[in-house]
Amino acid sequence: MAKTAKKQTSEQQNFSADVARLLEIVAGALYTNHDVFLRELISNAADACGKLRFEAIQNPALTKGDPDFRIHVFKNTDDRTVGVFDNGIGMSAEELADHLGTIAKSGSRALMEQVKASKGGDALKLIGQFGVGFYAAYMVASHVRVISRKAGTKDTNVWESDGSTGFTVRPASAEESALLHGDRGTLITLSIKDEGAEFLIEEKLRQVIEHYSDHIDTPIYLAEPQFKEGQSAVNQASALWMRSKSEVTEEEYTAFYKHITFGFDEPLLTCHWRAEGMISFNALLFLPTMRPWDLYDPTRKNAVKLYVRRVFISDSIDGLMYPWLRFVRGAIDSEDLPLNISRESLQYNPVIGKIRSSVAKRVLGDLNKLSQNDEPAFLTFWAQFGAAMKEGLYDAAEHREDIFKICRFATTHEDGKSLASLDDYIARMKPDQNEIYYISGENVEALRRSPQLEGFKKHGLEVLLFTDTIDDFWLQQVPEFKGKVFKSVTKGAVDLKDESKKEEAPAPEKPSFCKS
Ligand code: ADP
Repeated sequence: MAKTAKKQTSEQQNFSADVARLLEIVAGALYTNHDVFLRELISNAADACGKLRFEAIQNPALTKGDPDFRIHVFKNTDDRTVGVFDNGIGMSAEELADHLGTIAKSGSRALMEQVKASKGGDALKLIGQFGVGFYAAYMVASHVRVISRKAGTKDTNVWESDGSTGFTVRPASAEESALLHGDRGTLITLSIKDEGAEFLIEEKLRQVIEHYSDHIDTPIYLAEPQFKEGQSAVNQASALWMRSKSEVTEEEYTAFYKHITFGFDEPLLTCHWRAEGMISFNALLFLPTMRPWDLYDPTRKNAVKLYVRRVFISDSIDGLMYPWLRFVRGAIDSEDLPLNISRESLQYNPVIGKIRSSVAKRVLGDLNKLSQNDEPAFLTFWAQFGAAMKEGLYDAAEHREDIFKICRFATTHEDGKSLASLDDYIARMKPDQNEIYYISGENVEALRRSPQLEGFKKHGLEVLLFTDTIDDFWLQQVPEFKGKVFKSVTKGAVDLKDESKKEEAPAPEKPSFCKS
């Protein structure tokens, strides 16, 4: 019964140059951890369910008759295939070509940026570090077929590719459409190559799901897409941030962190709490160990996911986090925000501002605790993110005091054996000293050798060494700390005689740097 009305085959289209390069890397990834392909496909499936959950708020007809979201992972040993199905938003023919023919965004783009930066050298290592997204399928598959039907439409389409020459997109046959067992969603079928043979064992699939996807908030079934009563999900399928801290293991936190960051590092600090009162929200936030590649991107965009009553709203709502906390990753789930307003207008909702401030306070408090309880970990953090945090000194006057608590500076004290906080500095000030002395320049070593410090050393006066560009900016806005004025040792007169009158040794002749 061949259909004649519609063309069943379409011209082969080429992958974009970036995808072609990415596929080469993926295909060469013999020794990398193959499990990541399943993590990536499940992650996409969960995103697709999240997107439809959001759309269905405005348009409930989209999920009518099939309101429960689900993901299915299954194998067929006879055909040597593994299938991943979701009844999420699905893709139209154009979207299949656009999304699976170019480097879409996030994970895979981050990888390609790194590949370019490292001139390809470390590309293989990078695969495990960044999510490669959909294309990770080709680590284990010689051929991939994607059957998809966008929610609310009638057409089912098929994307197919062997991952080397290009891809085709065509309308699905009746048999192919029937494989969706419903009127929306995406079924990805991977023809498994020898390197991926272990994924034809159900127990292996279960292990990988348990390991990487327990936090996914959509149930994952180890069974074919047709839903049967009584099936039980492999994962807990409850949003991690809604659980209480005592119910979440370290491994689950880390798996979730990796899921949302495509990250290769471990979280340095996990902040998980529920705020109640004027506004209510659950937050699960992570501070990374390593600086993200785009920390100094001029957009200073934040990357915390916003949920409203468990419905995913956006990866990056402007104003949800302060720009100086843009490296924080995680999820915030608000009880107060309306679901039925556009993502664009959400940023102007006063609740967002309240969450931003409350979150900043909490993160700063947790960092302060970290600085007291685990100094090495704190200093690792500070080395990576201190300069970004200091942007908050002029950006957010209401948090300045808390930011100052965690600021650490290089210092001349004890030849800089350790970094100083401003409180350390004040505690060591001479009794009559009213100024916090600093010198700014490009690097600590050069500053230490500066002749302008000679007189201060002789008088036992500590000088802070400011080397971040940002220091000059906040100093313009913040003239003092706890009543002590910041004073550059290179600008204006510093009357050392006055400061040193408590010293036993007589002060030397007025040093040459004390110009008036
Ligand atoms: P990323 O997930 O980082 O955006 P991917 O290469 O994994 O990159 O996926 C590219 C795009 O393809 C996604 O952003 C999404 O729009 C689309 N996509 C992938 N898988 C699915 C799916 N199961 N359902 C709907 N859309 C999908």
